[in-house]
Amino acid sequence: METEVKTISIKDWRGYKGRPFLIAGPCSAETEQQVMETAVRLAEQKEISVFRAGIWKPRTRPNSFEGVGVEGLKWLREVKKETGLMVGIEVANEKHVYEALKYGIDMLWIGARTSVNPFTVQEISNALTGVDVMVLVKNPINPDLELWIGAIERIAKAGIKRLGAVHRGFSAYEKTVYRNQPNWQLPIELRRRIPDLPIICDPSHISGAREYLYEISQKAMDLNFDGLMIESHIDPDNALSDSAQQLTPNDLKELLSRLILRSPVTSDPKLLDILGELRQQIDVFDDHLLDILEKRMKIAETIGQYKKENNITILQTTRWDEIIKKVLVKGQAKGLSREVIDSIFKAIHQESINHQMKIMNNGVSDRKKVK
Ligand code: PEP
Ligand code: MN
Repeated sequence: METEVKTISIKDWRGYKGRPFLIAGPCSAETEQQVMETAVRLAEQKEISVFRAGIWKPRTRPNSFEGVGVEGLKWLREVKKETGLMVGIEVANEKHVYEALKYGIDMLWIGARTSVNPFTVQEISNALTGVDVMVLVKNPINPDLELWIGAIERIAKAGIKRLGAVHRGFSAYEKTVYRNQPNWQLPIELRRRIPDLPIICDPSHISGAREYLYEISQKAMDLNFDGLMIESHIDPDNALSDSAQQLTPNDLKELLSRLILRSPVTSDPKLLDILGELRQQIDVFDDHLLDILEKRMKIAETIGQYKKENNITILQTTRWDEIIKKVLVKGQAKGLSREVIDSIFKAIHQESINHQMKIMNNGVSDRKKVK
């Protein structure tokens, strides 16, 4: 389905201070002093555009710190006055939107636990109709690109033009190094589907831990994301939420200074020549890959025919186990990662099963010759 999302380039957003567009501040506003001290230290870093702070916190379990509520909006109004930074908060319902607008909040973001719910996103969209404020839509907690796009479309329909997406990673059952799975292919596909939509990376909620913030931020820059939203707290170890992933303003400054910003385009004719030639080689290999897959599927169909004639089930687990073990060893020796070999071969296996199923179910009788 085509999307009808019209946005303005992040370069034209009020408060734009260069790529990456930087949003920083504590996970939660806790006290007036903590908010103001953090903001003053962040404002010293001239490249930061927006001061963030959660004032209504969606917590997994009850009895956790659930935010200071409307009181925090007054502190943010002070931050804006004292530091000149723009200010942003999370909104999770229409009441939050009305309160935020009353206090002159510049940026609203829809959190991952809210963007999963079309009723709530629509309610927020209705509350935003005709309002000129920056809005960011975080990815839903589950890796569902259509749901993410749907939420973005709903907000776009309210007429919001300074509209962006935030990639904050996806929840997974398995415990992994990162708190949330980056699944980079989703924001990459989002960029393909809505090319003009600014995409901001939130390495704090992807990593869940300070030590990974740099590598995730650098990766986002290498993928040409438009900005970063990073949690920063004057005293991270004593933060009331997300303590392990917050950085002091100083550590944030140090992280930002290490980021390498690469250009998405080049006009150097020599470099363009070299890249053009290498890309041609890639195209040739991609064609090879497709030819090989076609041949592999033809063999799978022939096998399907034999299985059909001899009444054997399609799935034979021991054979599949053998294949995956073998390719993992061979592939790793060729410098490919376990995860990639695993996912490529699972996809190939699934496609083979589909081809065999077609043979079994359609009763195709003439065995196709393998080229
Ligand atoms: C947050 O930004 O503090 C937050 C709650 O994020 P998310 O919705 O990504 O969990
Ligand atoms: Mn947080």
